[in-house]
Amino acid sequence: MRPLLFAANWKMNIGPAEARTYLAAFTKAYGRHPDREVWFFPPAVSIEAAAQTIAQRRDLRVGAQDIHWEPKGAFTGAISGSLANQAGAHLTLIGHSERRHVFGETDAETGKKVTAALAAELQPVLCVGETLAQREAGETVPVVTRQLEAALGGRDGKARVTIAYEPVWAIGTGRNATPKDAAEVHRAIRAWLKARAVTAPPFVILYGGSVNLKNAAELLAEHELDGVLVGGASLDPRGWAQLVRTAAG
Ligand code: PEP
Repeated sequence: MRPLLFAANWKMNIGPAEARTYLAAFTKAYGRHPDREVWFFPPAVSIEAAAQTIAQRRDLRVGAQDIHWEPKGAFTGAISGSLANQAGAHLTLIGHSERRHVFGETDAETGKKVTAALAAELQPVLCVGETLAQREAGETVPVVTRQLEAALGGRDGKARVTIAYEPVWAIGTGRNATPKDAAEVHRAIRAWLKARAVTAPPFVILYGGSVNLKNAAELLAEHELDGVLVGGASLDPRGWAQLVRTAAG
């Protein structure tokens, strides 16, 4: 059975005390499964509490939702890769659709953030995905490969970078890509990663966009998907534990 990855993006929810309560409930409801790993992306203020609470579970890891590309300095409100690492993060999301479309993050900035994450010993989870207009114009694969090239092009192929394919129109909307549609884009991403050799294999590609208890198993039955990145349906610890436990590999 292939290993599966379940990533929970808490977005701007769950403070430090709530993170402890959440993770106590989650670990009670979800015992270790050797074929799956669970990653949590709390808001920055809750990284340390989350990391401390699950320190004994090697199958559970914590990451930042975003980092700045500079290691330190006058960037009010931002956190660097090193600060996230000091708080206990091992991973970081980069280029999440809300960073790109709400905060105006550019393709070039995602590239600088990948470099910064690797320098701070955080594994990047690079998010890519097209808008509805781009999908309807048949531009999905060109858009996604442009985002990959901007963030990863020119690298030496030694670093492990997880990719999350998250169509913008599917995030938080209740609309998700069909398993077939998601798999088609995953195939294109995998082919690009193999051909360009800018990251180290194995090439792990998650799908994200309105994944929930009802559709996760059907999506994960598609072998192109190595896991899922989940926002809304990860906010309830028992529901999230059930999703991770029951989604078929
Ligand atoms: C996300 O935040 O990456 C996401 C996919 O959110 P949701 O599951 O709520 O669509």
